[in-house]
Parts: sequence; C-alpha cells; structure tokens
Amino acid sequence: PGPQLPHDPSKKTLVICGSGWGATSLLNSLETEDYNVIVISPKNYFLFTPLLPSVAVGTISPRSILQPTRYVTRHKKRQVTVIEASATDVDPVNKTVTFADTSEIQGAVSNTTIPYDYLVFAVGAEVQTFNIPGVREHACFMKELEDAEKMQRRFMDCMESAAFPGQTSDEVKRLLHMVVVGGGPTGVELSGELHDFLEEDLRSWYPELAESVRITLVEALPSVLPSFSKQLIDYTESTFKEAKIDILTKTMVKEVKEKSVVLQMPDKSIVEVPCGLVVWAAGNTLRNVTRDLMAKLPEAQNNRRGITVDECMRMAGTDGSIFAVGDCTATTYAPTAQVASQQGAYLARVLGQLAKRDNLEYRLNELDAAPEAEKQEREQAEKRLAKLEKLRPFKYSHQGSLAYIGSDKAIADLPFFNGNLATGGVATFLFWRSAYLSTLFSMRNRTLVATDWLKVKFFGRDVSRE
Ligand code: FAD
Ligand code: NAD
Repeated sequence: PGPQLPHDPSKKTLVICGSGWGATSLLNSLETEDYNVIVISPKNYFLFTPLLPSVAVGTISPRSILQPTRYVTRHKKRQVTVIEASATDVDPVNKTVTFADTSEIQGAVSNTTIPYDYLVFAVGAEVQTFNIPGVREHACFMKELEDAEKMQRRFMDCMESAAFPGQTSDEVKRLLHMVVVGGGPTGVELSGELHDFLEEDLRSWYPELAESVRITLVEALPSVLPSFSKQLIDYTESTFKEAKIDILTKTMVKEVKEKSVVLQMPDKSIVEVPCGLVVWAAGNTLRNVTRDLMAKLPEAQNNRRGITVDECMRMAGTDGSIFAVGDCTATTYAPTAQVASQQGAYLARVLGQLAKRDNLEYRLNELDAAPEAEKQEREQAEKRLAKLEKLRPFKYSHQGSLAYIGSDKAIADLPFFNGNLATGGVATFLFWRSAYLSTLFSMRNRTLVATDWLKVKFFGRDVSRE
C-alpha cells in the first residue's frame, strides 16, 4: 500500500474540507498535536481573493496571491495530512467523508472514504448564474485563479483581434466593449482595475485602439455597492463617470451570447448590446456537496442560502461533530473573507477546548475502570469537565469594508467610536494597499505582492497574451 495517514488512535480525527479563508485561518491557529488532522481540498493552496481582480489585468502575478497549504501545515507541531481532492459526500450519521481526486492526472486510487470525529466544512461557494442562458458558455467568472487568468487572456485576445488589419470599425467597437455584470464589490473592483490597465498601459501600447475601449458595469439594483454607505456609493459613481466607466443600474442581464449581452433596461425594454468580453460577477450560490449534505438533514437544514449553524458554528441537526464556516453557511454576517477568517480562528479555540474536554472524559473513563483511584482526582476532573462543556459563542468583530475603485482611489467604511467613518480617495487607496499587504498570510506573499506593485510602477503591465 502507498502512504498511509499518520494516525494515532488515542487522538480524535479532525477533517477539514477546504483550503480557503475559513480553513486556512483555522489551520493557522490550530494546535495540531490535539488531533489527527486531515485537510481535503481540490486546490492545494490558499487563494487571497481580494487581489484577484488585480491578477486579471496583470497588476499582480498569479502566484503572488497563492500560498500552498503545505506552507502552513509544515510548521505545525504534529504532522497534518493534506489531500488534493474534492469532498463528494458527507455522511453525518456514520461520520464519514468521501472524496475524489478530480484533477487532470489520477492514480489507480482516486476515490475513498474516511471516518471523522470532527468535521469542519469550509468549502465556500460557487458562482451564481441564475441559469441565465449563455453565462457558463460565454462569460468569464472572477472567483478562482483560473478565472482571472482566463479573463486576462480573453481581454488581450480582444485587443489583438481589434488590431487585426482591416478590421471594420463596428467590429473594433464590439471587440473593445467590456461588460462587467454585477455591481457588488467584485464587479466594481474589476471595472476599476480594467480602467487602470487602459489608462496606464494600453494607451501607450495600442494608441490607435485605446479610444475605442469601453467598460460597462451592469447592475440589477438601483445602485452599485449596496452594502457601502450612501456617500461612498455616490463617490464611486462619480469616480466611474470621470473614468468613463458606464454604469447601468436597474438593468438586468437576461442572456449572454457569443458576441453580445441581452439587457433588460429599467423601462423593461430588451436591448442587445454587442461586446467582446463579459465578466460575470453576479454573486454566489451553494456548491452541490453542500446542498447534498443539507438534504440529509432536511428538518434542521432548510435555509436556501446555506448551512444553518448555532452560535458555536455547529451544524444544526448534527450531534455537534460537524462545524461549518464561511460562505457555505447562512448567518447574519455577509459572506466575506473577514467573517470566514474570524470564524476559522474561533474554531481553532473551540477545537482546542474540545480536545481538553475529550482528554478529560477519557481520563474519567480510566478512573471509572479503576474504582480504587483517587476520589480527589475524579472530583477535580469532573469539575474541570463541567467548565469545558460550555463553549463561548462566536462573536464577529467588524474591521470595516474596503474596496478599490480604480484611478488610485479606494473607499472605506470603517467602524469609528460606535459610529462609521466613510472615506474615499488616494489616501484610502494607500490604506487599502497597506491593509491588504498586512492581511496576506505570509512574509513571502507580502514580498511578492509588494514587488509586483513596484514592477508595475516602473515597467507597466505585461500585455503579452499567454
Ligand atoms: P473560500 O475562501 O472560497 O474557500 C473554499 C475552499 O474550499 C477552497 O479552498 C476550495 O478549493 C475548497 N473546496 C471547494 N470545493 C470543495 C470540495 N468539494 N471539497 C473540499 N474543498 C472544496 N471578502 C472580504 O472580506 N474582503 C475582500 O476584499 C474580498 N474580496 C474578494 C474578491 C473576490 C474577487 C472574490 C471572489 C471574493 C472576495 N471576498 C472578499 C469574499 C471572500 O473571498 C469570501 O467570502 C471567502 O473566500 C470565504 O471564505 P471560505 O473559506 O468560506 O471560502
Ligand atoms: P455580490 O452578491 O455582492 O454582488 C452581485 C451583484 O450582481 C448584486 O448587486 C446583484 O444585484 C447583481 N446581479 C445579479 N444578477 C444580475 C443580473 N442578471 N444582471 C445584473 N446584475 C445582476 O457579489 P460579489 O461582488 O461577488 O461579492 C460577493 C461577496 O464577497 C460579498 O459578500 C462581498 O462583500 C464580498 N467581497 C468583498 C470585497 C471587498 O470587501 N472589497 C470584494 C469582493 C467581494
């Protein structure tokens, strides 16, 4: 047989599904000597999503915002098993997880089932398409690293096709019309980044085409960035106006075609708009593995937004052995990295406490088997156990919302003396950069990202199409 999982039968097995914000934050803080820890994720890395739109236009190199999960686990006191696979099924009754190697290359064994004592479910979400025709076939997403790379390739393809000799002017206009769907933070940040690329690089590399590049942001609601304060929405809209990014609000994309998008305008009329590239940033939905798990507990799990958890992140309807964090859950918090990472760190504390409790229970069982054992020790152990039974609930501490809007400007809603400080502009942009730099999990990633920013400052972005 090949490599076996390092298993200590005296320790409980903790399986963590995912290697994103929730799972990585948990791994960072977890005392691994308490458990047999197994991480299962189809990506063997953590992706720093806030800088993904910067990767899509080449401001940042893709690898600068990745951190291999093994970089985190190798520093742990007790070995952690990292398995590159997708969880395909969780059985909450028999406490098993089934997972499969879904990558390009597979060995003779590519599917297996393992038992768990505790499971942390942190598989995030996937892109919501609302089953709108043509989205999967013709649009780019902005969720995973490969989405940003694909968008960058397609964007440069549009530029080069527009530069093809003899291209008609209508076709040049079509190819250079970039449509971003969804005026949430992802769509806004991406539109800002596209604008920077145009102004700072494409104008000098493609002077004959730059004037024809158009960016349109389409949002179904009455305004972009509904979660930000009104003055920052106004500031973003006026910055976009100056930057010649068109915002179409109260406008819904009804279909994406190979060379156009079909829009329902505010007056309900339908308009087909030619374009070269559509980026779909219209929000998230649950993954199938999450839906399947919820379907096994139909009475407790009936929220269509995600997994219902209690105040300690335990999945409702289970015996407390499954925890869920991040975008796969339905809580009162927004599906953000900030929430997922705080939940992950919180779970590390909870699991530490549970390990202590489980050890005490084990010791008490030993004492039961030896009736001559000291009465005093038993009493003390029982007292300590009673204290450990009670878990402190999760408390979210909001550090503020930040978004980059292009033209070296960012917006920030920050908690301030029980109120809110709304600020936008170049100083906020510098704050945005330093905040993200410090949030990056490792010194290696900080150095890579800071170097990318410097490289772009001195040499501009790379316009080669890989
Ligand atoms: P994720 O971070 O998505 O991690 C999910 C993990 O599960 C991944 O490792 C994935 O590979 C793995 N996985 C998937 N399927 C399976 C499976 N079947 N089995 C096992 N593992 C699986 N939030 C902010 O607070 N600030 C920001 O600035 C910000 N910017 C963003 C920018 C972009 C472009 C995007 C897309 C999101 C941004 N967010 C931001 C939101 C933030 O990224 C998410 O809220 C956060 O990633 C949620 O963390 P998570 O751990 O729940 O999920
Ligand atoms: P979102 O759900 O916040 O926004 C999607 C937008 O798309 C919505 O406003 C929706 O009305 C619109 N939409 C949906 N269908 C549409 C259609 N057919 N036509 C036109 N518009 C349509 O999604 P997001 O921006 O990807 O953000 C997801 C989560 O990640 C949020 O919680 C967000 O706060 C977080 N996030 C935060 C940051 C940041 O803090 N800088 C950046 C990115 C994402």
